[in-house]
Amino acid sequence: GGTIGILGGGQLGRMLAMAAAQMGYRCIAYSPEKESVARDVCVDMFTNKWDDAQAMAAFAQQCDVVTWEFENVPVGPLSAIVDCLAPHPRALETAQDRLNEKRFAEGLGGKPAPYATIDSREDLIAAIDRIGTPGILKTRREGYDGKGQWRIMSSRDAEGVALPDAPCIYEGFVEFDDEFSVILARTATGETRFWDSPVNVHEAGMLHTSTLPSGPLIEGQVEEARALATQVADALNYVGVLTLEFFATAHGPVFNEMAPRVHNSGHWTVEGAVTSQFENHIRAICGLPLGDTRSVSPGMVMTNIVGKDALQAEQWLADPSTHLHLYSKAKARDGRKMGHATQLIWDT
Ligand code: ATP
Ligand code: MG
Ligand code: MG
Repeated sequence: GGTIGILGGGQLGRMLAMAAAQMGYRCIAYSPEKESVARDVCVDMFTNKWDDAQAMAAFAQQCDVVTWEFENVPVGPLSAIVDCLAPHPRALETAQDRLNEKRFAEGLGGKPAPYATIDSREDLIAAIDRIGTPGILKTRREGYDGKGQWRIMSSRDAEGVALPDAPCIYEGFVEFDDEFSVILARTATGETRFWDSPVNVHEAGMLHTSTLPSGPLIEGQVEEARALATQVADALNYVGVLTLEFFATAHGPVFNEMAPRVHNSGHWTVEGAVTSQFENHIRAICGLPLGDTRSVSPGMVMTNIVGKDALQAEQWLADPSTHLHLYSKAKARDGRKMGHATQLIWDT
């Protein structure tokens, strides 16, 4: 037993706390948002601001170990609690800025899409000159679920697009065949395990489904992708669950981005793997050995339940091999992740 602090109050925190509770830990959450879905499963909740260093220190004081579920926790105030944090905040620092993230992955042999830093319209025009169109303009920080991204189909678009008031990058559009993610768990002693890599399908920039088996294209590229993920995890001396997203292309895996946390494309591991991403994250940060990450069924489909679809969520239970997860969010706003369903497929 012991007390685990979770920075962030969303569904990832909720599912981490559920796994932790099963193993006898108490969780407390820290999130400035009062409407937090982690609250139901945590024994206590701090609703202070992210930059309230005093509250953050008082929070950490009550915990044996502190982790995060939210990847945009400001790293400044974390330096005071670094001794009880896992993973180390250097992982957050690297992943919070798309420019850093890409340079870091490239330095370790990863191949991202061609990209350029954009701080002005001149930068954008020069970038399009060099990289071409189509491409995507992305804010360097704080984007998720495809927010903070603008597709640019021609140089004329570049003249018309309203540049956000934030540092950006421009990325060449990758003509990918498939998308997949590599999710690993790593302990402080460097023991590393990977889950199977499903094929991820996005709709409007948000994950829609993750499916296994992923097919021969992805299966042929997972090894190279895992090698990069191992390099990344080792370079960060990473402790916990780490995710890297890739495009599977005719020229091999193209690195998209990393998430220093449990990941939506790993939600299937709760029922679909011997040990879930949530449990292994808790094990890793608590200094326990990792559990087996093997898949339990030959196939599986995880589908996100978004917005008003949550109102008909029980329909998923018509299939007895499907498990329904609802995050108990109060309002089914459009584009809001409300839950997910994982169907295990035994005869493929
Ligand atoms: P997440 O919620 O995964 O953190 P995000 O907002 O950080 O998402 P990205 O992963 O950068 O966004 O992009 C979201 C999706 O948009 C990708 O999964 C992919 O489908 C598409 N996309 C992003 N960048 C590119 C690109 N350079 N070429 C082609 N498609 C892209
Ligand atoms: Mg992202
Ligand atoms: Mg992404």
